[in-house]
Amino acid sequence: MTDRILEFLRNRREDGPCLVLDLEVVRENYLAFAKALPDTRVFYAVKANPDPRVLELLAGLGSCFDTASVVEIEQALAAGASADRISYGNTIKKERDIARAYALGVRLFAVDCEAEVEKIARAAPGSRVFCRILCDGAGAEWPLSRKFGCAPELAPRVLEHAHRLGLDAFGLSFHVGSQQRDPRMWDGALKAAAAIFRDLAERGITLQMVNLGGGFPTRYLKQVPAVSTYAQTILQALRKHFGNHIPETIIEPGRGMVGNAGVIEAEVVLISKKADGDKVRWVYLDIGKFNGLAETMDEMIRYPIRTPYDGAATEPCILAGPSCDSVDVLYEKQPYDLPVSLEIGSKVLIEGTGAYTTTYSSVGFNGFPPLKSYVI
Ligand SMILES: *Cc1c(COP(=O)(O)O)cnc(C)c1O
Repeated sequence: MTDRILEFLRNRREDGPCLVLDLEVVRENYLAFAKALPDTRVFYAVKANPDPRVLELLAGLGSCFDTASVVEIEQALAAGASADRISYGNTIKKERDIARAYALGVRLFAVDCEAEVEKIARAAPGSRVFCRILCDGAGAEWPLSRKFGCAPELAPRVLEHAHRLGLDAFGLSFHVGSQQRDPRMWDGALKAAAAIFRDLAERGITLQMVNLGGGFPTRYLKQVPAVSTYAQTILQALRKHFGNHIPETIIEPGRGMVGNAGVIEAEVVLISKKADGDKVRWVYLDIGKFNGLAETMDEMIRYPIRTPYDGAATEPCILAGPSCDSVDVLYEKQPYDLPVSLEIGSKVLIEGTGAYTTTYSSVGFNGFPPLKSYVI
């Protein structure tokens, strides 16, 4: 929460929930990453918040961009990033999209199997590829599970295949799970990475780069370690596993770059009880899973919520969105403590919502428009 955001909201006249994102905070976050890891290139994960002003700011600060589609590549280019600062980091790409990325100048691609390597060899000849290895996501609040990456023991074969097909077998990547609150989780992945480096060196292939992925957290209800703590722990792990041959590294922060820069203002639409003896009230907001708060899925991300009555007595509430879908409940298994004095019409501020909100918002389920966003 910043004074600039509060000031903006005081003067806002339009109706409906909105996100307000303070670019000053994004700038501070970028500079903190750059300072903590001076030898590591930053590839901002565009999907976290692709607002043109965010991308332009980061492009101007020297950031590179991790993209997952041709549209994201075009967004990064439009923001002023040259193609050599863009990686196509999705391991699941249509061959014609690879060709379009190549035509736009992109030469860095993620793979996690031989079939994807073959597509890149055909559609983006001579490019650099890095192989993503599986990470179990333990310790992360939003684990990325098994969808991306291959078992570490498969990676040498994938990269050797790339080498054989004339690609530049450039390195490895992993993602320790989003909102990863334990910096030690990079250690296991780096151990596996170093073993793959050695294995390929024996086959005459010299890898150069380790992509440390995203996972850097933003502050929600629980405290998280500082970026500098992550940096120290990761550098220690690099030294432990790579000794004097520390490879080139990159990071791909998404949430950690923009999460704490945004605040959503929402309104209480209804407060009710379902039966006389109910202990828990239902509080319905004008924002829910379908217009910005998708990350409350399985109650994984618990946002801090400020109300005009903070400090007053609270009671547990079931918090729900406005739409006519019964899955549009934000917190029920673990009810959310809100002031007893909260009223219908009260405005609430949902903090830490700069990442993974606007683009997760549906185009108009039940007629509720996509989340409005103001970048200041
Ligand atoms: C989403 C994503 C990121 C960003 O992850 P955060 O946890 O938000 O930092 C980084 N890299 C890749 C490949 C991703 O898909």
